[in-house]
Amino acid sequence: GSAEADAVPNEYYRPAEPPSHLLTRRANATILMLARNSDVNDAVRSVRRLEDRFNKKFGYPWVFLNEEPFSDEFKTRVSNVINGEVTFGQVPREHWYQPDWIDEDKARAGREKMVEDNIIYGGSVSYRNMCRFNSGFFYRHPILEQYKWYWRVEPDVHFHCDIDFDPFLYMEDHNKTYAFTITMYEYEATIPTLWQSVKEFIQENPQYVAKNNAMGYMSENGGDTYNLCHFWSNFEIANMDFWRGEAYSKFFEHLDNKGGFYYERWGDAPVHSIAVSLFQSKDQIHFFDEIGYEHNPYTHCPRSDSAWSRGKCGCDQQKSFDYDGYSCMRQWDRIQ
Ligand code: GDP
Ligand code: MN
Repeated sequence: GSAEADAVPNEYYRPAEPPSHLLTRRANATILMLARNSDVNDAVRSVRRLEDRFNKKFGYPWVFLNEEPFSDEFKTRVSNVINGEVTFGQVPREHWYQPDWIDEDKARAGREKMVEDNIIYGGSVSYRNMCRFNSGFFYRHPILEQYKWYWRVEPDVHFHCDIDFDPFLYMEDHNKTYAFTITMYEYEATIPTLWQSVKEFIQENPQYVAKNNAMGYMSENGGDTYNLCHFWSNFEIANMDFWRGEAYSKFFEHLDNKGGFYYERWGDAPVHSIAVSLFQSKDQIHFFDEIGYEHNPYTHCPRSDSAWSRGKCGCDQQKSFDYDGYSCMRQWDRIQ
């Protein structure tokens, strides 16, 4: 028969549970994804996974950003897998493209050198635009201005456990600024002069350095050199008021003026990580062991057995990245 005639009748369907966010307190938060139109299939997969494991219960609004207008296909496919509210926005030109004051000959020479040296994304200008946008601009987008908290999600990431708690409210109630699930070393070739620029900034602005900071996680010698440890920023839950505040605004401006986002290939991960580690106290940075998370090629699977069973995690604890040779969890643990 026809698909319509054979359709399962309504009486076999069950009504949804009343959404818990209507009954309880919620945070001023959004789930944020930066994506290209060509990412649509991977974007849909990430959204499905997070909606299923977390957000169908909590109903936080999603925001999608792109430097180009989103296609109708992208908007339709993504909206179809979201239970709650969704907004699609375009990044203003001046938040995205390489500024005119960058010396393009010098930038090109830097890219060519990185291509020769086989550095990942070494030749890419669009990757650099993305890193600079994620470092210093996303939280100023008009759609995001109304929100305090964001959860950054990328196309084709996995959430391996039920997340039955509200990470935003947990962070708000415990005075946390920034949360991560995976920490690792950065490629030194992408940031050869970043640490020098950081040291200059803190010499000129010592008042921004927090007393109980996390320098011990980033340096083996009290700040003389950087050990390349950073929080893997494809997963972040953080308070945008920190990025909007005076310390980080001046810090970003100082780094941006160095041109290192284009002359080198500074990533938003080391930039964010260094800033929260220096300008916040170490207990404002939170490791969410409970959140099983995978971004190719690495997975964090809950270390705690009770978190693993309670979250009905599908991941293998033995394959968790936490104590991989390339992980910085040891450096994180030693300052706890
Ligand atoms: P990787 O995780 O470092 O390999 O980098 P990705 O390719 O995953 O990019 C990081 C994030 O930025 C993802 O959310 C991408 O969808 C997004 N992204 C990267 N480049 C662009 C771009 O040129 N335009 C847009 N709109 N998004 C981008
Ligand atoms: Mn990615």
